[in-house]
Amino acid sequence: MADLVWDEGMSVGIDSLDDDHKQLIAILAQLMSAKNDKFEQGHINNVFEQLECYCQLHFAKEEAFLAKIDYQQLVAHKQSHQDFIKKIPQLKQQWFGDVTEQEVVKDQIILFLQQWLIKHILEEDLDYVPAIHCYQQFQLYKTQKKAKNPWLRYFSVKLSSYLTLSHRVFITTLLPVVAVLILCFFILKANYQRYHNISKVLGFNSVITHVNGITHSLQAERGLSTGYTSSNYRNFAEQLNTRRKDTDSKINYFLWLLEQPENAEMKKSISAYMLNVQQTVTNLSILRMHLDQNMVSFNDTYNAYTQLIGQLLSVADRLVHREIGSSYGNDISAINAILRYKEFVGQIRALGLKMAESQQADLYQNIDISLLFGKQISTLRTFASSASLTQKSLCAEYCDAIAQRKQLELSYLKVMALGDKDTRAAHWFKVMSDKVDKLNGIVVGLISEFDEKIYKESLALRTEGYLIVFALSLFLLAAIFFALVLNYSIISPVRKLTYALNDMSAGQNNIHFEPMANKDEIGSMQLAFEKLRRKLLQADVYKATVNQQKKEIKYRKSQQDHFQQLALTDALTGAVNRHHFNEVLDQEIANVNNHGQPLSIMLLDIDHFKKVNDNHGHGAGDEVLVLFYQTCLEAVRSSDVVARIGGEEFVIVMPNTELVNAHKFAERLRKKIALLEINIGNKKISVTVSIGVSQWQNDYFINAESFVAHADKSLYQAKNSGRNKVVVA
Ligand code: GH3
Ligand code: MG
Ligand code: MG
Repeated sequence: MADLVWDEGMSVGIDSLDDDHKQLIAILAQLMSAKNDKFEQGHINNVFEQLECYCQLHFAKEEAFLAKIDYQQLVAHKQSHQDFIKKIPQLKQQWFGDVTEQEVVKDQIILFLQQWLIKHILEEDLDYVPAIHCYQQFQLYKTQKKAKNPWLRYFSVKLSSYLTLSHRVFITTLLPVVAVLILCFFILKANYQRYHNISKVLGFNSVITHVNGITHSLQAERGLSTGYTSSNYRNFAEQLNTRRKDTDSKINYFLWLLEQPENAEMKKSISAYMLNVQQTVTNLSILRMHLDQNMVSFNDTYNAYTQLIGQLLSVADRLVHREIGSSYGNDISAINAILRYKEFVGQIRALGLKMAESQQADLYQNIDISLLFGKQISTLRTFASSASLTQKSLCAEYCDAIAQRKQLELSYLKVMALGDKDTRAAHWFKVMSDKVDKLNGIVVGLISEFDEKIYKESLALRTEGYLIVFALSLFLLAAIFFALVLNYSIISPVRKLTYALNDMSAGQNNIHFEPMANKDEIGSMQLAFEKLRRKLLQADVYKATVNQQKKEIKYRKSQQDHFQQLALTDALTGAVNRHHFNEVLDQEIANVNNHGQPLSIMLLDIDHFKKVNDNHGHGAGDEVLVLFYQTCLEAVRSSDVVARIGGEEFVIVMPNTELVNAHKFAERLRKKIALLEINIGNKKISVTVSIGVSQWQNDYFINAESFVAHADKSLYQAKNSGRNKVVVA
């Protein structure tokens, strides 16, 4: 039985554990030598005690390590330790047990301990040692900041217990996908918000269009109505009627529009303002009635219209405060500013009518007009601060408030130069109406510019949205492709390698990798695997060849033995053949010469054997020969040699036998043969034998041949004296 020897490949990488293992191997070696050299019981007891003691220390150390790293199978592991410790005294008892099979039992005990130790080191300890290693390095780093990337290592080891390689690859691909999805979500959300704003703004723009239409009509109506009250110029009446109808139809259309379900949200947001508008619209019809009956003054008429227009403009202003984004808010503010500006021009038109009638030379004698000039300037400032470049270019001439004012003063002076008051009023009204109409045209232009801008932006937004979705789909496809490639190039080869290695450790060496191997680290792993596989295969093939050779050698040896046997013995009976008999006899004679012990031989010849053949057949004769030999063999001593030297002639060589004793034995044998009954078929055959006996005489015989010839003479005599006789020479 071979000793278990320490091999550096058995190292678990932790010196203190390695030392323990070496010590345990040394204890087993002690046990082995104790067995071989048959040491006393006390010594063996000692060895077993050492084993138990050392195992306990070693296990305690190991368990402490395992507890530190939170080893999952700690309980089961501890149990296996305890089981082994319990087993040691039992083994000791067996060692000193049954005396008859003691050697076998001791061998079994040593074999068990060796196998246990190999399993303990190579299977159990090496299983958890990497985790301890990692933990130790981490601790080392924490105390001395020495190890290389311990956090990363510790983290990756921890991670590997929760996430498989495929999970990690999946997450690595998924993370950017999630990030891009989130990004796209926000972009699309902002886009949608802008798109939503645009549809809102489109609604607002239509409100502004209507407000502009209505206020424009109201402004004209106000001008006509105030003219109507201030002068007796009845021509206003006809225009006024047409204007009133126009105003009413516009208001009614606007109110109807607000009732439409698609404008419900907008209506809700401006409802508070609309309530006032509706109230004022109701008042308007009363005012008109009073106006027709000449029951209201200029101021009342002027104020009533101005209030309604103001309320409507507030509705438009209100839209700016809705959440539609600052750019659209500015655009609407700019439009509203021009709307306001237009309203101030309208107010000046109305107020100016009265002044033209009473022929006041300076327009600024009217404090309201002065105030309106101020308001105009501030409105144009608002416009300048919020309008876009296109908007500014659309109302370029109105951006200069001072120039506008000068122009107005000039127009007023021209009007005042005219003769009667009605002409002046009509002229003033016409000049100012031209201005208002022009402004109206500008507002319409601004609104349609804004509409176009919004439409273009909505188109751009839609395209942008499609592009984002397209890019996102491309990215997702790329990510899926990337994940598949990673799976195909990393995970499945690693899996295959693992299966292949497992299969290989189970003794299956025929796993090949496709010839188109990876050119990267995985490819190197496959190549390394292939090298290992070939090495193991070589070893296996070599082992198989050696076994085959051993078998062949064994077979040849057995054949040789067989042939050797054939060369020494007679094929029919198995007796020593003539050739070998000569050698044996020579050897025995040499022994006699050296040691001086007596040597006798007897020659035996079956009587009338020819007759046996003749009467019963050659086969029966053969059977008789075999039985004759066996009878002789049973009768002789173990040191005697029975040889067949002729057809039915045998010799028995009897070393260390005096002639007398040889004679006695020959007689016994002769009688035994004579009594022998040989069954052939249903017949019984008996034979007799004639024997010649002789003893070696150093000074008488020259060689073995003369010795045999001497015995043969006696045999001849036995034949001649009637057969079935023993004759001693
Ligand atoms: P004796 O008493 O004078 O010895 O008479 P014998 O017939 O035994 O002597 P002999 O020498 O005349 O005949 C021997 C016979 O033994 C002749 C031969 O046919 C037979 N014999 C020799 N070898 C074998 C053998 O191997 N098998 C058989 N069946 N017979 C054999
Ligand atoms: Mg014969
Ligand atoms: Mg014979």
